[in-house]
Amino acid sequence: MRGLAVDVLVAGGGVAGLTATAAFAAAGFEVLCVDPVPPVTSAEAEGSDLRSTAFLSPAVDLLRRAGLWEALAPQAAPLRLMRIADAGGTEGVIRETAEFAASEIGAEVFGWNLPNWLLRREMVARVDGALRAGVRVERVVPRSEAALVALSDGTQVRARLVVAADGRDSAVREGLGIRARRWGYGQKAVVFSVTHALPHGDASTEIHRSGGPFTLVPLPDRDGVHASAVVWMEAGPRAAELAAMPEAEFNAALNLRSCGVLGELALAGRRMLWPIITQVAERLDGPRTALVAEAAHVVPPIGAQGLNMSLADIAALLDLCEATRAGGGDIGSRELLGRYHRARHGEILLRVGGIDALNRASMAGARPLRELRRAGLRTLYGAAPVRRTLMRLGLGARAAESWPESRPESRPG
Ligand SMILES: Cc1cc2nc3c(=O)[nH]c(=O)nc-3n(C[C@H](O)[C@H](O)[C@H](O)COP(=O)(O)OP(=O)(O)OC[C@H]3O[C@@H](n4cnc5c(N)ncnc54)[C@H](O)[C@@H]3O)c2cc1C
Repeated sequence: MRGLAVDVLVAGGGVAGLTATAAFAAAGFEVLCVDPVPPVTSAEAEGSDLRSTAFLSPAVDLLRRAGLWEALAPQAAPLRLMRIADAGGTEGVIRETAEFAASEIGAEVFGWNLPNWLLRREMVARVDGALRAGVRVERVVPRSEAALVALSDGTQVRARLVVAADGRDSAVREGLGIRARRWGYGQKAVVFSVTHALPHGDASTEIHRSGGPFTLVPLPDRDGVHASAVVWMEAGPRAAELAAMPEAEFNAALNLRSCGVLGELALAGRRMLWPIITQVAERLDGPRTALVAEAAHVVPPIGAQGLNMSLADIAALLDLCEATRAGGGDIGSRELLGRYHRARHGEILLRVGGIDALNRASMAGARPLRELRRAGLRTLYGAAPVRRTLMRLGLGARAAESWPESRPESRPG
């Protein structure tokens, strides 16, 4: 068996794992990242991730720290305005709109939007020799000095710290016996890009009706043509029907659902279907191991929280590791990992509870609930102090300010 020793072994080369790899490497740690699936780095290739990610400001700080932002910035679309519209009723007409500008909280932008395939391309280029693709983590055996990590190609890696970024079905999490609570909504998201007649004006638009939100997020213009990424959440069977529809029929359904906000929309490229679930791990720490990103938490794609929470995990872990190294300590110690769990888990539970509540309100098709949601939207977004709190929440402030009553523990697993 071949042997290798590193400071940090990152399991998973998704967007979160690649960011962790770049960030730990930029901080001077010796890092190896492994992933069984070679990264797909173009929009057209089979298996390409057609989602886009809206990075809110604190996440951009981590991308800068990881040395990734310089290459990403010229390709990112800024988000300066968030628009939330209620299109309740059968006629598909927008009845109420709330708009929040970044300038209201003294910021130039809320964040930046980038296609996931492009993120992977730039991240893979940056981490270069630190990524071993086509190889999975098979077993993690924690020892007092280091974890012994068995890889599928027969290599044994000694790592002081294992960062589990191996996704929602994390084998590392399961191997450590850390339980996760998971629940679904009978919902799926259809994900695709569109071109449109009117400019988006750097605004994201979330239209609520029933079945779930329909969200348009700005992309940079393509050869002078306006473009946006769309996440369209619906009940599972309807979402599957939309994903399989002939293009002309789909475009008609799309334009009905978008209520004309950006003028005529046209599908650009393929459609993808994503199941919508919520999942939270009971703990973020195991012996010599930290769970991050979807290995730790999965949320419905509302308010661009998923990957932004993940990057907050990575930033918190990196801060602790840098401070511990400076003091000559062990970056995989039980104490450090316990501190990581305490720094992140409460915040994650609050955000998960808040997003779960927003999704349930958005799915509600029954009239009394819809009216209640509409009243809720007006109340929530009408008052200036509450609006500012919500916007800051998007920018990374603690969710506790807005959703103190969220208790995901009480839900069935
Ligand atoms: C429709 C949709 C839209 C979204 N939009 C946003 C948004 O705008 N903003 C935002 O912040 N978030 C958003 N999210 C969430 C975000 O996309 C995810 O949080 C993120 O992509 C997940 O990244 P990840 O790296 O944790 O997981 P993954 O991308 O699933 O990566 C996990 C990796 O681990 C690898 N792996 C699996 N098993 C092993 C093993 N044994 N050993 C090693 N590697 C292994 C897999 O091959 C995979 O590459 C959205 C999600 C959805 C569904």
